[in-house]
Amino acid sequence: MFHWYTGDSTYDTILTAALGFAVFVFVASWFLPSPYGRFESDKFGVSVSPKLGWFLMELPATLSFLYFFSRGPNRQELVPTVLAAMWCLHYANRGFFFPWAMRVPKGQKGSFSMLVIVTGWLVTSMHGYFHGSYFSRYGEHYTREWLTDPRFIAGFVLYYLFMAGNLHADHILRNLRSREEIERGERVYRVPQGGMYRWVTSPSYLCELCAWASFAVCTWSLAGVFIFVVSAANLVPRAVATHRWYQQKFPDYPKERKALIPFVW
Ligand code: NDP
Repeated sequence: MFHWYTGDSTYDTILTAALGFAVFVFVASWFLPSPYGRFESDKFGVSVSPKLGWFLMELPATLSFLYFFSRGPNRQELVPTVLAAMWCLHYANRGFFFPWAMRVPKGQKGSFSMLVIVTGWLVTSMHGYFHGSYFSRYGEHYTREWLTDPRFIAGFVLYYLFMAGNLHADHILRNLRSREEIERGERVYRVPQGGMYRWVTSPSYLCELCAWASFAVCTWSLAGVFIFVVSAANLVPRAVATHRWYQQKFPDYPKERKALIPFVW
């Protein structure tokens, strides 16, 4: 049992294990891109529709967050409430709007592996627990003064800037398939253009990672560090695999476009 962060041995032990798990995810993701979307695979048993898959995978984030947040003694204080509102807005998008708005061709067989959902549950439920408990119970710096602290202000502004970038990148991808193609059941892939796709193949991942890093600064918590590192462990290798996939599939793929970091990599 560990007592190194909040003093609650359950929290600190799970956090330690979770940080170790992120290292495992990082290593595993280079060998096996999560089997969903363009990297779907029949090798891992049952797959479901991506809309259902995303919804199910993300649901524990909202549920565990609300459960643990609502049990904390500081749940009605101003700063915990502001942070909880940021959280809820994030998961209103990722957990509900995003799967609802996805353009999945009619009649498409399942492409979202149950393996991704089940491993995703581990992450999303811990993520909700870490943040919910920290916001309303352990975060001693969440007094009203935190709202004028440079870490809060910088993290808050950057988080929303990067989330805007993430939403825009998701929007461009979504619109690569027309509604008519969806109706006809055609699963087409095209080369995304415009926005930050001018510079990188996976701007949504880049913005997601920068947003979580900003959220960690805004909340000044290891809960934030956890979601940043576990997301990076998953998305950095996936961005590399996605870049390679586009280069192989589209011979005229823009040469100057990098995988994840503009002008660099
Ligand atoms: P994709 O961006 O690969 O796919 C999103 C949707 O767009 C899918 O419906 C996909 O269809 C479709 N699509 C993708 N590329 C094309 C294309 N070239 N032409 C036409 N349609 C396309 O990404 P992810 O599903 O991996 O990620 C979605 C969001 O979730 C991102 O914002 C990402 O940042 C976030 N995310 C966050 C994670 C985290 O750990 N925090 C983990 C994973 C994702 P299809 O399913 O048929 O391929």
